[in-house]
Amino acid sequence: MALCTLCPRRCGVDRSVARGFCGMPDEMIVARAAPHYGEEPPISGQNGSGTVFFAGCSLGCVFCQNAAIRGEKCGKTYTVPALADLFLRLAAAGVHNLNLVTGTHYTNKIAAALALVKDKLGVPVVWNSGGYETVESLGLLDGLVDVYLPDFKYLAPTLASICAGAPDYAEQAGAALSEMFRQVGPCVFDENGLLEKGVLIRHLVLPGQSRDSVAVLDRVASLLPVADVRLSLMRQYTPDFAPADAPAFLHRRVTQFEYDRVCRAAAALGFDGYVQGKDSATAAFTPDFSDHGMA
Ligand code: SF4
Repeated sequence: MALCTLCPRRCGVDRSVARGFCGMPDEMIVARAAPHYGEEPPISGQNGSGTVFFAGCSLGCVFCQNAAIRGEKCGKTYTVPALADLFLRLAAAGVHNLNLVTGTHYTNKIAAALALVKDKLGVPVVWNSGGYETVESLGLLDGLVDVYLPDFKYLAPTLASICAGAPDYAEQAGAALSEMFRQVGPCVFDENGLLEKGVLIRHLVLPGQSRDSVAVLDRVASLLPVADVRLSLMRQYTPDFAPADAPAFLHRRVTQFEYDRVCRAAAALGFDGYVQGKDSATAAFTPDFSDHGMA
């Protein structure tokens, strides 16, 4: 493998013999592959979204609800042809789309697998990521991904540094978002309201950080035409996954007042999209990663 610069960490390591920030080898590891019903309505629909959860993450937020699949021992190893075959099997299960979750650290190989089967899938391909990506890596996906589903998590460098050790998060995520929109353009829905093409931006409101959330929305609105994208405002933050030594603000849930403030800001900016109820803030919605599903 070439020295890895797949994500903005740009570690420059040979992952066949060493590890960078993400801690993952160059061989792909899939933690779980299965229909998933917990995404936004235009992604999950009635039949579910065909999720492929890749093990590992190059962002590594301290409160991550999927931290159980961060290591290299929590899934099955895949070659490019085997991954392409998994994509076909999942698409054939009747799901509405193929949903590739946190694959940034494997972008080159995932792109190679998609290139083998893209014209046989029959469903849109969704790239579901933390938003911390390089424009160069996203370029590998141009023409292979139909729907981008990125997070835009933080605006303030201090918050991004505290939560993910990535003070450049907003700068990188902003450039990535612009590239995603350049590739796929405005949202297009089918007759059943399922997203066929476009960008759906997720933002998780964090406890005590509603001011940063509003700043995130302002940044997104400055980068993209809000009428052409969709926004998913998530209030599912739960402190269950925050380590004991995490900053104090991460040890509670988001209040109704905080969430409402961010929702009002989104409406004022003209965003259309999806909100979550209070009962979403529970660990019960995290997939069971001890079950690898079809992987
Ligand atoms: S994908 Fe991993 S090794 Fe490569 S640059 Fe990112 S964190 Fe470093």
